[in-house]
Amino acid sequence: MQLGARKPRTTARILLTLIVVLVIGVGLWLALRQGPPPTVELTTDRPAVGTATTVIARFAEPAGGLGAVRLELVQGGRTEVLAERRFDRPLPLPWRRGAGEPEAVLEAVVGSSAQGWLAEGELVLRAVADRSTGPLRSAAPMVAELALAVRLRPPGLELVSSQHYARQGGAGAVVYRVGDTAVRSGVQAGEHVSVGAPSPGGGPGDRFVIYALPWDLGEGSSVRLFAEDDAGNRTERPFLDLFRPRPPGADTIELTDAFLSKVVPAIAANTPGFDGSRPLLEQYLEINGPLRRAELARVAGLAASSEPAFRWSGPFLQLANSARMAGFAEVRSYRYDGREVDRQTHLGLDLASTARAPVPAPSSGRVVLAGWMTLYGNAVVIDHGYGLMSLSGHLSSIAVSEGEEVERGQIIGSSGATGLAGGDHLHLEIFVHGQPVDPVEWLDGAWIANNITSKLEGAR
Ligand SMILES: [Zn+2]
Repeated sequence: MQLGARKPRTTARILLTLIVVLVIGVGLWLALRQGPPPTVELTTDRPAVGTATTVIARFAEPAGGLGAVRLELVQGGRTEVLAERRFDRPLPLPWRRGAGEPEAVLEAVVGSSAQGWLAEGELVLRAVADRSTGPLRSAAPMVAELALAVRLRPPGLELVSSQHYARQGGAGAVVYRVGDTAVRSGVQAGEHVSVGAPSPGGGPGDRFVIYALPWDLGEGSSVRLFAEDDAGNRTERPFLDLFRPRPPGADTIELTDAFLSKVVPAIAANTPGFDGSRPLLEQYLEINGPLRRAELARVAGLAASSEPAFRWSGPFLQLANSARMAGFAEVRSYRYDGREVDRQTHLGLDLASTARAPVPAPSSGRVVLAGWMTLYGNAVVIDHGYGLMSLSGHLSSIAVSEGEEVERGQIIGSSGATGLAGGDHLHLEIFVHGQPVDPVEWLDGAWIANNITSKLEGAR
């Protein structure tokens, strides 16, 4: 009986011991624990630092949550804290999992615009996230570092060719020399950029560019030669000796129901996804406006792949025995039922000969597009190199295919009236780095010699 009376006390003691051991165990675990390491990632919008480079540090620790995170800049023994944040971590108990801050982003700008003390050379960006530990444990924080070059001087830029006379809506060429840090250079004319390429037969810094002056560029003061490095430093200098304005021509086109019913259904049938069930005028306005811009953007998109080489020589060819019907940069007012319904600028040259006349490749090059181009109808786009391309449109048939090399004068198709054409004619459009320019300049051998090829000869 005595033994039986002692039993509950012994059980209680064992239980108490177990509880004490458990509490000490949990306490020791909490005091000595080390949570999982947070991930730290550093990225920048440029590969080097100049006036302003944006730095983004991303931190993540979904299980235990983030504590303190920091973004620093280090150069020459000096450290500047660019940004920091501190989050409260919950106790690492099973039912508190995921209750902390799972991720954080710190963003800052580095460069001479933000840190006037920066020197040329190198700097280190450092992102730091502390680790979750108990009070009796210490763990090194997680660190990501990124070393970047600091360049504060913009690249050198020197003009080599001379006598640059260009016309609004026209083209020209420049030979220039850039410093060894330049990664991109060329001519900026308003919003349009013509990107330069290594100059044929030149030294490592010699560049050559055929540039466009957009037809709607009002004056020449914004036209600049530029050179940029990978840190965003940019040098600009004017180079035009003369900018000749070119007042736009004007024309009025009367839209008749007979014309609309002749051209619109054929275009609708050839254009995938086009809703041909609407009133003809509504369809016409979509073709003449948004679809015109879409086709121009398509050719502009091809410009970047233009080969930096002379694929052409001599004057461009005009359709044999043809008359020039409509010129470049004519502002057309479209009238229907006695009122203006649209206004667009004609950016090519219209040439009329006999129906289904053989159409020559304006110069040699590679066919980069051969097929249906909405308002241009059946069209062929040829890359002549250095950003120079030609488009021959409204063809009744096409005799070449994409990727084909063509010779100057080789027959690429027959003239026609496909797309937005009232009658059989050839629409010839010339692009320089995606910008339509006046084709008449390129049909003129003397103009090419004076404004394009002589720039290279003078530079050698
Ligand atoms: Zn035309």
